[in-house]
Amino acid sequence: TREQIEDLRRSHIAEYPDFPTPGVLFRDITPLLRDAGALREVIRYWMSLLPADIEYVVGTEARGFVLGAPLAYELGAGFVPVRKAGKLPGSPATLRYDLEYGSAVVQIPENSLPVGARTLVVDDLLATGGTAAATIELTRRFGVELLGASFLIELEGLQGRRKLPDVPLTTVWSIP
Ligand code: AMP
Repeated sequence: TREQIEDLRRSHIAEYPDFPTPGVLFRDITPLLRDAGALREVIRYWMSLLPADIEYVVGTEARGFVLGAPLAYELGAGFVPVRKAGKLPGSPATLRYDLEYGSAVVQIPENSLPVGARTLVVDDLLATGGTAAATIELTRRFGVELLGASFLIELEGLQGRRKLPDVPLTTVWSIP
């Protein structure tokens, strides 16, 4: 039930103040990942929030891999990784985006998403929305049908949703 899922957030997400930089409250999903029953329950619940007929799950390095792969498996969908710069061979699709300080690059393997494919973007956590916005822009370059983006955790106070205006969003846990 919804209540049990809420309880799992309190018991299975660890919080670390001032990591990796001062002022950030880091949410660590390791307690969830290492608990077989809790992981299964959360993936099951997450499945119930997702749109129908997803063909590809696009997951962001690194925790988007860990959570996106079991979702893809359960959905009967394929999984496509979004990677940081320099990890992918060939001619990956590439996008540079701005961070608070400096910039970062995300890449998706070449020929990995067919035109029109029904696609969902997944990551563990929506904070400022910068990572998700870049991932979505890069995914759209393949000409897919973007069904939405889905996150285990949304930090509502950071208003990441504003960076993703025309994308249907689903989240397991929204933290005010
Ligand atoms: P953002 O681009 O600001 O939305 O940040 C999202 C990415 O950074 C995700 O891939 C998260 O895994 C990571 N992240 C940002 N803030 C946190 C946080 N407070 N705790 C854990 N991970 C975070």
